[in-house]
Amino acid sequence: MRETEKEQQHKRHVLIVGSVALDTIGTPFGEVSEAAGGSAYFAAIAASFYAPVRIVAVVGSDFPRQHLDILAARGVSLDGLQVKEGRTFRWTGRYQYDMSQARTIATELNVFQDFRPEIPKGWRSSGYVFLANIDPDLQLNVLDQVNRPQVVAADTMNFWIEGKRDAVLKVLGRADISLLNDAEVRQLSGVSGLVSAARRVLDLGPKMAVVKKGEHGAVMFSREAHFAAPCYPLEEVRDPTGAGDSFAGALVGYLASQGEASDAAVRRAIVHGSAVASFTVEDFGAARLLTLTRDEIEQRYREMRAFASVEA
Ligand code: AMP
Repeated sequence: MRETEKEQQHKRHVLIVGSVALDTIGTPFGEVSEAAGGSAYFAAIAASFYAPVRIVAVVGSDFPRQHLDILAARGVSLDGLQVKEGRTFRWTGRYQYDMSQARTIATELNVFQDFRPEIPKGWRSSGYVFLANIDPDLQLNVLDQVNRPQVVAADTMNFWIEGKRDAVLKVLGRADISLLNDAEVRQLSGVSGLVSAARRVLDLGPKMAVVKKGEHGAVMFSREAHFAAPCYPLEEVRDPTGAGDSFAGALVGYLASQGEASDAAVRRAIVHGSAVASFTVEDFGAARLLTLTRDEIEQRYREMRAFASVEA
């Protein structure tokens, strides 16, 4: 294959760095113990509906092999996934009836403590990079290892905004798209109104600030435009874990499939992200994502387009 064709192929790959975890989750509708999860895990499954995915993360020697086999079978390349002697990162969270915020009961870093992401040589020209929720110093380290991606999208969480604010600001300064939720945007900017808060995020560097608002949908701000997508009206949300990560994975995967991140493509990507996230929350952990089909996503995408359209 000619070098240029090879390069072209790399450009359509999605590189995801983040956590792969064993999650113990309780909601008013049930609980699950040690389910496969983590920001990179949810994002990778979601992105794999759209594009070839490469995952950079770490698990311990106790991580059940079957979860990795499931990712591999979906076309997720695992050459950047380190398996280290020791215990996998574990997160325990609980939700009350208002499922917009998880209460973290326990975070056990384990093998994450000494994780240093290493991007395999052949992956450094990946065109689409998603920095899922992980220590922002590690996100920066990943950006130092890649060659000018077409799109860098970045997420974070309150824990890092509080503890490593400067590093979070640097990450956003190098991102094209920020993918934070409304609480994170407010916390980061110190401003309560969402429009002003998103403007402050744009001032840090990204061209677009996508704000996830849980059951109220998602909004995108750029310097020129503003776009709002509704949330799919589900009868029952059983477990919101992974909604944000699967939203982001689908959004970035969709952009990779289109080979562009224009305003129009990002609008469509946000609706795809919302559609996939709405499936994630129908069941615990990633159970629903693993039975989901592309046809089901397309059907929900069409319904969501219809919800948001009005006559002139
Ligand atoms: P969300 O999409 O926001 O619901 O993300 C939930 C996922 O984040 C869970 O699967 C957790 O394993 C993961 N997670 C929780 N805390 C952290 C952390 N400090 N660093 C990285 N990932 C985390």
